[in-house]
Amino acid sequence: MDHFTYNNGELFAENVPVSKIAAELGTPTYIYSKNTLITHYQRIAEAFAPLHPLIAYSIKSCSNINIVRTLVDQGCGMDITSGGELYRALKAGCNANKIVFAGVGKTDHEINDALVAQSTGIRCFNCESEEEFWNLDRLAGIKGLRPQAALRVNPDVQNKGGTHQKTFTGKKETKFGVDIDRAAAFYREAQKAKHARLTAVDLHIGSPIKITAPYIDAITKALALTDELANDGIAIETLDIGGGYAAFYEGNEAPPASAYAQAIVPLLKDRVAKGLKIVLEPGRSISCNAGILLAQVQYTKIGGTKKFIIVDAAMNDLIRPTLYESYHFIWPTKGIVPPSRQSSLRIAGDEKVDVVGPICESGDYLAKDRYLPPLKRGDLIAVYSAGAYGMSMASNYNARPRAAEVLVDGDRYQVIRRRETYEDLVRGE
Ligand SMILES: *Cc1c(COP(=O)(O)O)cnc(C)c1O
Repeated sequence: MDHFTYNNGELFAENVPVSKIAAELGTPTYIYSKNTLITHYQRIAEAFAPLHPLIAYSIKSCSNINIVRTLVDQGCGMDITSGGELYRALKAGCNANKIVFAGVGKTDHEINDALVAQSTGIRCFNCESEEEFWNLDRLAGIKGLRPQAALRVNPDVQNKGGTHQKTFTGKKETKFGVDIDRAAAFYREAQKAKHARLTAVDLHIGSPIKITAPYIDAITKALALTDELANDGIAIETLDIGGGYAAFYEGNEAPPASAYAQAIVPLLKDRVAKGLKIVLEPGRSISCNAGILLAQVQYTKIGGTKKFIIVDAAMNDLIRPTLYESYHFIWPTKGIVPPSRQSSLRIAGDEKVDVVGPICESGDYLAKDRYLPPLKRGDLIAVYSAGAYGMSMASNYNARPRAAEVLVDGDRYQVIRRRETYEDLVRGE
């Protein structure tokens, strides 16, 4: 699952005690395990190897350029959603021809940058509306370029695989993509385009999707579309099947990469043999379990019937609990070793508490009604499964400098983003 384990009653990130990092850098601090990151990438790469896919890591899940560079070094490409993410990907050394660009509102400025990135331009623009495609065609024409485009089709998958409403994107009536029943007509229309080549189909049905059925459903519908288009003489070169593969939050809920591959590879293998290219866009399945958020208990107090553990990490550091009502396993870094990370975990002497931050919002919590060993001022806690959509969604709300980020590799560690200062907060104002 990951390289965050207890030795002699103390939590280590790989071979480094996390208390050492806290002593040197303070808290809150994001700690990433390089070897977890690489292992998770490799499992996906190996499982899907029969399809020879481009694996385009969803950079929005964890976008520190040192994390991105680690993956680029493994041969990974990038799935970006903005000009800023294009900048990060290129800065980390990613080849432009391994970058795909998603997002419903790409500006002219962002499209222009992507068209000329490293002079060849990016691999594919995943267009989310008909109008966006024509705008891409227009901008490509001005520069005399012939970029590849996909239409993000919305396959109207009914089974959302246990994902939260705010992260499910595969049904009609989402802002993403174009309804699949409108897609064929548009591919025909787009053959008139003189510059952009609409030769790819893109899917991303949301995340995390803990079962394989929605993928099978969506891919089957996308293949039916490509067959229909082939009958009209329109060749689809690339199928991008998106991301959303699950990670471990509440225990052992995430199927391994091999389980997704077992369901998906047979659908596509023959097509790949005939020349179809495949793109995957995994984010959290690579980064989620590669990171923890380390925090320190400031105070404890009783409020009515509740006990509160007030820590120095807050919703500005990790917004997932309040935004998605998501569960993150939390445990002290010293003392009783957690027998598991199941949400149902109970141990003798535990206490029901809310773990909250210092921000002036009742939504500022990391856990509610959680059973934890007794905690006191000064104790360190680890918030697990925080590598994805943790730091990348952090803000400065309440004028809180953003946390430091540390990358551990074996018995060494490196600060990959220094803690922000008060000066950073007002820079540019
Ligand atoms: C966010 C996103 C992903 C990655 O989702 P994960 O759950 O992190 O795997 C992939 N593709 C697109 C288009 C996305 O917006």
